[in-house]
Amino acid sequence: MAEIDVFDGHNDAVQFMGEYTSAGRDFLVRSESGHLDLPRAREGGMAGGLFALHAGPERQPENDLIINENGYEVIYAEAVDPAYARRQIEAQRLALESLIRRSAGQMRLAIDVEEIRAARADGAFAVVLHMEGAEALDGGFDYLHRLYAAGLRSLGPVWSRPNIFGYGVPFAYPKSPDTGPGLTEIGKELVRTCNRLGIMIDLAHLNERGFWDVAALSDAPLVATHACAHAICPSTRNLTDRQLDAIRDTDGVIGFNLSVNDIRADGDLNEDTPLDLVVRHIEYLVNRVGEDRVALGSDLDGAVIPRGIKDASGLPHLFEAMRKRGFDGQSLSKFAFDNWLRVFELTWKNSRSS
Ligand code: ZN
Repeated sequence: MAEIDVFDGHNDAVQFMGEYTSAGRDFLVRSESGHLDLPRAREGGMAGGLFALHAGPERQPENDLIINENGYEVIYAEAVDPAYARRQIEAQRLALESLIRRSAGQMRLAIDVEEIRAARADGAFAVVLHMEGAEALDGGFDYLHRLYAAGLRSLGPVWSRPNIFGYGVPFAYPKSPDTGPGLTEIGKELVRTCNRLGIMIDLAHLNERGFWDVAALSDAPLVATHACAHAICPSTRNLTDRQLDAIRDTDGVIGFNLSVNDIRADGDLNEDTPLDLVVRHIEYLVNRVGEDRVALGSDLDGAVIPRGIKDASGLPHLFEAMRKRGFDGQSLSKFAFDNWLRVFELTWKNSRSS
C-alpha cells in the first residue's frame, strides 16, 4: 500500500474515458494501456486531481514535428472553432459526470478544499474540473458562469495555439518561451472574471508575454499546473527563472510535469529517463521557489513519462527516489498533496472553503 497521498495537478484521462469515446477505457477497471484509471490511481496513492477538459483540433495535423540539429519544433497549431470546442468540452464534462455517478461513491466531484479533504478522509477519489484552453467560451462569459456552477475551478486561457484570449506557446526546444504577443483585451477580461469567480488561472501553455500579462493583472497566486524549469530543459513549455521567481513571490505553485522531454536537459522524448535525474530537476525547482511551491502536475495520459514510474501506480517510485535524495516525510507530503490545497485555499475565495 502506498504511504504518500497524492493530489495531482494535471491529467488528460478524460480524453480516453469510455464515457467520452467509444475507443476509450473503463476508468473503474485496471488497464495496462495509458497511465491512469481508478485502480492504478489507488495503487499509486492518488486521492484526487485536476482533470482537464480539452478540445482537440478538427483535423489532426500531419508532419507537424520538425526535428533539427539541436532539437525540435512543432508547427504552431491552428485555432479551434469555438462552437466545435464547446461541443467537445460539454461532452467531456458530461462524460466525467456520468463516470462519477457510475462509480457509486468511489469518485466525487470536488468544488472546494473541504470537499477534497472530506473525500481523502472517506477514501473517495476527488475530481476537480479544469479546462485547458478556453476556446469554448464566448466573449460574454455566460458559458464560463455555467461551467463554474457545474464545478469548474481551474482554467488555462490558452493551450499551445492561438485563441481570442491570447497565444499559447508553440512546442519547441531549445527556445525561449517568449514566442509572441501576450493576452488580448478580452483575455485580460477573462483573467478578471476568473479572479472574481475564484477560478484558478493556469499559466501552463501560455507564452512568456501572456504569463506577465496575467502576473500584472491577477490578484491570485500564480500557478502553472504542469511545467518544469527552463534553466534545466530549455523547452518553450518550461518556465524561466524569472517566471519561477514570480510564482514564488506570489506564493503560487508549479506542478512538476513528468513529461520526459520537458525534464531532460537534452529535451529528448526518451522514456529511459532515470528517476535520479527527475529528482534533481525537482530539487532545482525547490531551491528556486521553496518546498511550499512545488507540487505534482503529472500530465498522466498526456505525456511520455519515465519508465521508472510507468503509470499512476508507479508514483511511489518517484517518492522513493526523492526520499533517497533527502526529501523527508513532510517535504514529500507538501509536494504530493498539501501545496495544491494551500493554493486552492488562497484562490477559490468565493467557494465554501473561504
Ligand atoms: Zn498540457
